[in-house]
Amino acid sequence: MNNLLNNVLNKCREYTKNGTVASYIPELAKSNPEDFGICVVADGGSFYCAGDFSKSFTIQSIIKPIILLLALLDKGEEKVRALVGVEATGKPFDAFNYSDQALKCENINPMINAGAIALCTLINGDSYEEKFSRLLSLVRKMADNPQLEVNQDVYISEKTTGNKNRALAYMLKAYGMIGDNVDDILDCYFSACSINVNSFDLAKIAFIFANKGKNIITGEQIFDEKYARYINAVLVTSGMYDGSGEFALDVGVPAKSGVGGGIMAIVPNRMGIGIYSPALDNKGNSCAGIKALESLSKELELSIF
Ligand code: GLN
Repeated sequence: MNNLLNNVLNKCREYTKNGTVASYIPELAKSNPEDFGICVVADGGSFYCAGDFSKSFTIQSIIKPIILLLALLDKGEEKVRALVGVEATGKPFDAFNYSDQALKCENINPMINAGAIALCTLINGDSYEEKFSRLLSLVRKMADNPQLEVNQDVYISEKTTGNKNRALAYMLKAYGMIGDNVDDILDCYFSACSINVNSFDLAKIAFIFANKGKNIITGEQIFDEKYARYINAVLVTSGMYDGSGEFALDVGVPAKSGVGGGIMAIVPNRMGIGIYSPALDNKGNSCAGIKALESLSKELELSIF
């Protein structure tokens, strides 16, 4: 497997030239577009890594399935579904026009910014600091890495420049979908996007989603299998935004991308995959990361379809 991963990286490295690193969050523009790393956790917990697998990057939108998970754990499916729907939008992650329908809860998807911002309000906690601290604890637990922390430079960079997310949040407030103070909610969302991880962390998180909520290394059932099914289903239709259809055809597994350059891919009952390559396509997905997953999917017959 280590050889296979090295071969995949070598074969797909040229695609890092097809994209550019995100710059709308100025701090992300400092990433090295040539970085490329992969990690796979499989076979009852063995892990295999290649390239820049230990390099840190911010989790960005890969936090969205975990925000959804914590909202489900804290408030249950009914309350979550009442606030944020599950239909694919086919729109970019920062879209204002979530669907061609009216701005209603059912037309917001949990994998686009507006949906994730709204879901922060459903996390239990007396303050948004407490909500975020509970979210960070869940990420640390799933990644089995108590060291995970917020990258303060990225957090400040996004908070300073995040006017589009601020506008999205005020739209949600204007339409009565959220009630709390917008700055407090966004602080939780920006902090969440700014958690530093590496490919190994993402692979371990993916492995929990792949194993129906169970950490099969420790034997602990972290969450109910019905939530793994919920989140994996949403990821298939929406995890790669308006690139989700093509990704379903070419790779065929639930996955989530982030503008930090990460992709978390979940192969149900088989493996968790984490990738880092920060040169992004025009949909905000890692160019070489997608190619590496395509190649791995063909080689190991990973598609669930
Ligand atoms: N923090 C980013 C934002 O809100 C997340 C977007 C992404 O990773 N696609 O714009």
